[in-house]
Amino acid sequence: MMRSSTVANSIFIISGFLVVAYNEHFEFASHHGIQWTTALDSLPDRSDGNVRLLFVADPQLKRSSNQPLLLGSFMKWDADRYLTKYFRLAMSAVKPHVVIFMGDFVGEDNVANGDEFLSYADRFKAMFSVPDGVLPIFIAGDKDLGGGDQERAVKMERAEQFENYFSPINEIIEYKHIRFYKIDFLPYLHAIPEPKLDTKLQKLLTKFNSMPSEGETRVLLSHHAISDIMLHRHITIMQTLHPSYAFSGHSHDSGFVVHDLQKLMKFFNNIMNKPKQGNDVDPRGNIKMDEYKVPTCNYATGVPNTAYGVASIGTDGELHYALLWLPSRFRQLRCYMFYLIAVGLYTLWKWCRRRRQYR
Ligand SMILES: [Zn+2]
Repeated sequence: MMRSSTVANSIFIISGFLVVAYNEHFEFASHHGIQWTTALDSLPDRSDGNVRLLFVADPQLKRSSNQPLLLGSFMKWDADRYLTKYFRLAMSAVKPHVVIFMGDFVGEDNVANGDEFLSYADRFKAMFSVPDGVLPIFIAGDKDLGGGDQERAVKMERAEQFENYFSPINEIIEYKHIRFYKIDFLPYLHAIPEPKLDTKLQKLLTKFNSMPSEGETRVLLSHHAISDIMLHRHITIMQTLHPSYAFSGHSHDSGFVVHDLQKLMKFFNNIMNKPKQGNDVDPRGNIKMDEYKVPTCNYATGVPNTAYGVASIGTDGELHYALLWLPSRFRQLRCYMFYLIAVGLYTLWKWCRRRRQYR
């Protein structure tokens, strides 16, 4: 007859194997893989001139130095592994023409020195490598540019490093029938109207607008949402650039907002007590812009629902958008923890029982 401890050991080994197999493979294959297929089936075919975009928002790579050594190293390793695994799966499933990194690849505020920034940047590029033939677009996030309370000199150094290592912070990128406007809203965030600042923005927008363009569909890309800057700037951007779509990250959650220029101008004129002189309507007609807030792809940000965004833009400018949801790593890690606690308690119970027998 088989001893009870042998039976228990066999149960623990088999259940351990099942927990790992389910978490690391079967949960995605049986649930999320099906959601991805359904989401991608809702998009138009990749051919016929449709341009496929993959959005990677707020990967926020962790550093281990601010956590207890072993736990910090494990969390960094696990988060990096999770990000790399699902990014590769998303690349293979979506087969994008363009991959748009929405900013905050750095996971901490106050990255102290330039060398640390470069080590983050190297790690990021190794994890999120994009094959030849696919266009990567890099947006700068607030954490990439030095965090909230860094000194001005540090922020300038970080901006220069970002531009040297990735691409200009503000720029226009043309891809087939699409014109992407990359604009960093960080300097304008919650900043009261100020002639110097507003003139700087207007100059940038006028320069962008004066450039000859092949792209008929205009897409605004920024780390912060356009509604995070003051309303008069929001109106100026829509009036000058006429974007049809906008994408942002930073909030970590998914969101969708329709911006109606006419309503925004009416609201603005009302709160500013401006007399109605027909100035609440843009002379070129009303402009509407759909804004999509892309959720973070990294569970280590603490958000329960993480995803990659995917969009398809046809030659007629029509956009289809979907989210590829990711398995909850927190739930998976809880499963591992409960399993290890059960194994630990059983081992302790066995050890106590053996000690009693030998007394
Ligand atoms: Zn951010």
